[in-house]
Amino acid sequence: MGQSPAPDFAAALGAHGLGRLRRAAPTTLQVNVGKRCNQACQHCHVDAGPNRTEVMTDSVAERIVTLLEGHPSIEMLDVTGGAPELAPCFRMLVSRARRLGRRVIDRCNLTVLLEPGHEDLTTTAVVIAHPVASVLALLLLRARTAGKIGTMAATVFEPVSEQGKRGMDELHQQTVNLLSFTALPKEVFDEQVAFNMLGRFGESSSISLKNIENRIASHFEAIAGKSLPVPSLMLVQAPTFHAHTFSIYIQFEGEIDASALGKALSGDHVTILDPAEDGPSNVSAAGQGNVLVSVRPDARNAGGFWIWAAADNLKIAAMSAVECAATLSTMRPLGKVQ
Ligand code: SF4
Repeated sequence: MGQSPAPDFAAALGAHGLGRLRRAAPTTLQVNVGKRCNQACQHCHVDAGPNRTEVMTDSVAERIVTLLEGHPSIEMLDVTGGAPELAPCFRMLVSRARRLGRRVIDRCNLTVLLEPGHEDLTTTAVVIAHPVASVLALLLLRARTAGKIGTMAATVFEPVSEQGKRGMDELHQQTVNLLSFTALPKEVFDEQVAFNMLGRFGESSSISLKNIENRIASHFEAIAGKSLPVPSLMLVQAPTFHAHTFSIYIQFEGEIDASALGKALSGDHVTILDPAEDGPSNVSAAGQGNVLVSVRPDARNAGGFWIWAAADNLKIAAMSAVECAATLSTMRPLGKVQ
């Protein structure tokens, strides 16, 4: 069958009521300064992550500044990545573009601003706290009202849903394959997660438990401020789909009563479970808006307590996001798109 000739482009434009296409002077220059990022989002279309090394060199960044100098029509420099702030040329590029009077868009993921070394980059934007930081801050700030805390340590068991659908699919497929004695998919974790507990992922994984721990610590600091130091923290990857579980040890400086601690922990967003009931678990926490908590005194140390808690990671993150949006909406002027 013969192919019909392609329609004339100008005629097709005319048929749609459009005139001739003319090239106008460029007004925006978008540059990608590197693929390194403090996050490793499953949806990332450039597959950015902490292990990526591609970065714009200083000489290329200098050429961009020269290009801006020579093209006054370019009003806007649009900087993207990865997390652009992690590229060594970022600050130079932004400050030189600003000095030339150009507007700058920084396609910032916001969480990078909480990473050490970026204290000089400030923003009025809001970052949704990591759900582990929210739960730890909620419980420990309340525990502090029961008595003076000496030491605090928390081991947190991370569900694969923290890595989105890809994480859940990988655990599911690893489980199926293990039971049928076939090779395991390892694209996300680069390790066996099914029927296993991990303190770190394989070298080829773009996710790092250490980086997540650091993010939790910096979010905890942002919430608790000077009221409470960050607890000693260890994040463990568990072979579970949903909900974080927490084993928290608190050593009070004096002796306190378990019921006094239970009373201090009670309140909005927390359900204290009676020791006679089933304890908190991933399964019982799934779909709950509250953190499920049980408390027991340490068998040997007076003033020492173990808190076992479980919280739906997705629900806590979603609730924090909704509360932030509600607060922000009251701060914005009405009748104007921002
Ligand atoms: S924050 Fe943005 S650049 Fe970084 S991994 Fe996620 S989507 Fe990619």
